Amino acid sequence: METLILNDNTDIVTAGKIIQNGGLVAFPTETVYGLGASAYSDEAAKKIYEAKGRPSDNPLIVHVWNTEQIKDVAEDISDTAKLVIDKFMPGPITVILKKKACIPSGVTGGLDTVGVRCPINEVAREFIKSAGVPVAAPSANISGKPSPTNSQHVIDDMMGRIDAIIDSGECSVGVESTIVDMTADTPVILRPGGITYTMLKEVVPDIEIDKNILNTVSKDEVPKCPGTKYKHYSPDADVFVVEGEKCAVQAKIKELILNNKDKCVGVLFIYDAVYDDAIMLSAGKNNREYAHNLFKALREFDKLKVDVVFAEFCDDRDYGLAVKNRLYKAAGHKVIHV
Ligand code: AMP
Ligand code: MG
Repeated sequence: METLILNDNTDIVTAGKIIQNGGLVAFPTETVYGLGASAYSDEAAKKIYEAKGRPSDNPLIVHVWNTEQIKDVAEDISDTAKLVIDKFMPGPITVILKKKACIPSGVTGGLDTVGVRCPINEVAREFIKSAGVPVAAPSANISGKPSPTNSQHVIDDMMGRIDAIIDSGECSVGVESTIVDMTADTPVILRPGGITYTMLKEVVPDIEIDKNILNTVSKDEVPKCPGTKYKHYSPDADVFVVEGEKCAVQAKIKELILNNKDKCVGVLFIYDAVYDDAIMLSAGKNNREYAHNLFKALREFDKLKVDVVFAEFCDDRDYGLAVKNRLYKAAGHKVIHV
């Protein structure tokens, strides 16, 4: 299949038409690039799963262009859910609500709930508006690979597999949306992201964090967020998180580099570390920058054919929880505490 590369200013109407005709378009959002199709079409949803190689029980998030459109796809929206929507949407958050019948079960992985998100990225909103329907979209990467945070990542993964890619540079947040389940009495954060626990707690004081955020999910367990049970964000390199106080982390990584002299070693470092005999990529100065740089760095390490990556991690406050969740998954939960 030929994949069109579309301009994020002049080609939005073309992109919308492709969705109306049952096709697939990768589009930018503030979190990561999404792979969109009409949320009203089972057939189009199937094409998404095929293009990504994604297991079909892993539901898609339904994207709307404004908060008014939420009532087209979800019902029984509680007052607490309305509070969260008013406060944080448009923005990097997804709320799980009861789905309306118009959303086919092929979009929601067979669940009777739907994840709804209204991005703040203007290109995303214009695109969804021009599609004239809500847009179902997971991240626009091959299943299991790090999520795409710039258009080149999407081109690397999706060229020849989908109808079009809207080329729109870098995503500002860099990790996927915060997911909050609003269907139970007590709202639960299923996935941490750009809207943090602290921010949510100000609006919903009793909000909880799902225990699977930092744990592996056993094969027999049914997680609330189906995506959590699959391997995620895995680069080809073997990743280890080295976690603790900054000086201890650096000392440990220096020791690990010495012990892995036969391998090509990469280090994902925070701010000003210096390591000899390793390929170093910067995670930035703080967790907001770490979130922005993480997936890009993991993809870069693969391009550089690195065998093993040691990732510094020192602070899990606020944005840190989202970074830690993605890092732990990328590392297959191989964490060295120092
Ligand atoms: P992705 O956009 O690739 O990050 O995938 C969407 C994520 O949203 C997956 O991890 C899903 O498990 C989660 N998700 C989407 N819809 C629902 C839902 N109705 N209930 C729980 N989780 C959902
Ligand atoms: Mg994904």
